[in-house]
Amino acid sequence: MDQEQQPLLALQAISSRISAIFDLEPLLEELVQSSRSIFGHHNALVFLADEEEEELYLAASGRPLTPQVRKRRFKIGAEELLGRVASTGKPAVVPDVSQNDSCTSSSPETRSAISIPMFVGGRLVGVFQVESDRVAAFDERDLQLMTTVANQAAAAIEAARLLRESRANAVALERRARNLMLINRVSTTLNSSLDAYEILKMTIQHLVDIIDVHYGNVLILEHDGQHAQIITEYPSETGPANHLRLSLPPRPSVQQVLELGIPYVVEDATDYPLLEPLQQELPSLKFGSLLLVPMVARRDMIGILLLASLGQHRSFSDEELEICQTIASQAAVAVANARLLQDIQRQRRALARKSQELTAASSKLDAILNNIADGLVVTDPAGRIILSNPAFRKMTAPPQIRSPYGRLLAETFHIEGLQSLVNQALELPGQVFTENLELPDGRVLKTSATALRIPPPILSPEEGEQIAGVVTILRDITHEVEVDRMKTDFISAVSHELRSPLTSVLGFANLIQRDFSRWIAPHLKPKGQLQQVANRIMDNLTIIEEESQRLTRLINDLLDIAKIEASHTEWRMESNDLTDVIQRGIAATTALAEEKNLPIQVHLPSYGLPPVWGHRDRLIQVMTNLLSNAIKFTDQGHVQVSAYSLYLSEKGPERSETDELETQNESHLLHLHPGEWVIVNVTDTGIGIQTDDTDRIFEKFTQVGDTLTEKPAGTGLGLSICKGIIEHHGGHIWVESVPHRGSTFSFALPVFSPTERERQNSNER
Ligand code: ADP
Repeated sequence: MDQEQQPLLALQAISSRISAIFDLEPLLEELVQSSRSIFGHHNALVFLADEEEEELYLAASGRPLTPQVRKRRFKIGAEELLGRVASTGKPAVVPDVSQNDSCTSSSPETRSAISIPMFVGGRLVGVFQVESDRVAAFDERDLQLMTTVANQAAAAIEAARLLRESRANAVALERRARNLMLINRVSTTLNSSLDAYEILKMTIQHLVDIIDVHYGNVLILEHDGQHAQIITEYPSETGPANHLRLSLPPRPSVQQVLELGIPYVVEDATDYPLLEPLQQELPSLKFGSLLLVPMVARRDMIGILLLASLGQHRSFSDEELEICQTIASQAAVAVANARLLQDIQRQRRALARKSQELTAASSKLDAILNNIADGLVVTDPAGRIILSNPAFRKMTAPPQIRSPYGRLLAETFHIEGLQSLVNQALELPGQVFTENLELPDGRVLKTSATALRIPPPILSPEEGEQIAGVVTILRDITHEVEVDRMKTDFISAVSHELRSPLTSVLGFANLIQRDFSRWIAPHLKPKGQLQQVANRIMDNLTIIEEESQRLTRLINDLLDIAKIEASHTEWRMESNDLTDVIQRGIAATTALAEEKNLPIQVHLPSYGLPPVWGHRDRLIQVMTNLLSNAIKFTDQGHVQVSAYSLYLSEKGPERSETDELETQNESHLLHLHPGEWVIVNVTDTGIGIQTDDTDRIFEKFTQVGDTLTEKPAGTGLGLSICKGIIEHHGGHIWVESVPHRGSTFSFALPVFSPTERERQNSNER
């Protein structure tokens, strides 16, 4: 072989050998061996740069090396020859290594060396070094030759590296794809079920298979967060561990890790405390390693998946942990969804039940409303009808209206006074307003309206009670009114008829008495028998006179009451000073009081009383009646009249200058509407009235007490006349009494404001 060709052939040989190898380690091995065999080098070495290009490490050597040399690393850029060659990119020829301290040689026999940097595309691959056992063995030609070898080697090394990298990537990719597929398959099965138990059962089966462990179970966390129960296990042949209760390891260790959603590995689970109950139940299981995977859904740990290898220890790769974590969290979400669905279904069932009950209740209510004889209409605060029953529509509706729902009450039903009654009820919730309303066809409806109050919502009581509208009940009392009218007519007719003969009886009795005492009595012998007869005749005549007078009073009272009830009374309304009315009443009864030796005391406010609007004579009649009753039913003590004015606000009474006056039992004042009132009390120290009777005595012909033993002292009509008069004035009358101690009869009359008075004035005119 020619001297010129020899190196070229050698070069060809080495490059064909290394280019046929694609794996890095065999490639490097080939390079260093060929370098020795082809070029006869004492040794050849390849140093590769690490990924960060900070250090060189020995990757291949043509001769075996001491471990010290093998493990050495060389900083790129340092003073040492290898580092310098790598950083400067310039090769170095060392003719005598013993003369160069910075040169690293692979064996004591090495005498000279060449170090050549290997670059590909500007990137440092490493350094190629060849050594000889002769001093100054390498010349310029060798340097060139080796540089060519180094360049080729660099390209081949880079190619092998890339190949390896791409192979590694492909493997990782494939693994990833397989894992994704597994996860996907598991999550599809999980989502196909809406039963939480089924989901967990499938989860643990899949995980045991995928992670390739021997045993797995699902622990569901109890409310205390300290215990968990096994609800399913796999393979289930291992034993009946279901519903076993395990105590979780105390915080902060394991649980905290788990709460973050991170799996926890116990490499040696031989005596792990968590497993104690399980171990007792299933002594045949020899736990090796344990993996606890938390199931966290919406930041809430609902349970733990427990996976265990049996009989042997094993480790879990990051990838396995990741798969477990993903599947566990998917299972947790699926379970949470299933539970949510269960909740929703439960709620829906409960709602359906409730609505059934409501429908039943409401149809009962409907039946009641539809069948009661009284009319009922409910309006909202704006006056729109929200409910009405057939009786109401029959009583009142013009025939063309099919459903009054949503219509304005006032516009739909033209019943005089109905809307103002509803308005009153709206203004004063809690009170019932009753009035007899007359329809155009003459029928009379007794109508009661009251505001419909709904209690505040339970969750926000501060909102207070609300007014939902007004409930109005109407009863057709046309017949009763008619009967009453007939009764009243009859009473007035009879009373009128009785009055004239009675006047005759009274007149003739008087006449007989007068004639008798003038013409006959003087001729009788005193103390004679005839005188006794004459006295008896006089006494009997007095009785006839007294009884006739009583009968006259009764008839007058009857006529009065008949007139008031039939609204035939003529009311002469004017402004009245009640002080005067009281004085007139006292004047009319003074004689009666003096007869019984009873003082009448008067307590009136020094500032006077506000004027009330009324029929003076009728008010005096009330006063006289109350005073004469007080005197009549009192044998000793006194009778007292007092009066005061009072302002009633929504909150209650505000009395002015009342210190001097006795206080009133205020429960009766609750019946009065807000505004200014004058209250008059007539108090006696007489026989009093039993509590049961205090309401009854205002009814017609009611006389209470022992009427058998006591001579009836009146007609039993006085108080009902008083009641009729006071109520006509918009007032209220009542009594408070203690038997054997005395009674207080009181009445309240509204004080009209000047504008109100003006309005009343024009009405009366
Ligand atoms: P009379 O004409 O019988 O007094 P009233 O209607 O005035 O009729 O009174 C009805 C009944 O009420 C009386 O009969 C009596 O039993 C009782 N009554 C009225 N005022 C008093 C009083 N001041 N004290 C006790 N009882 C009274």
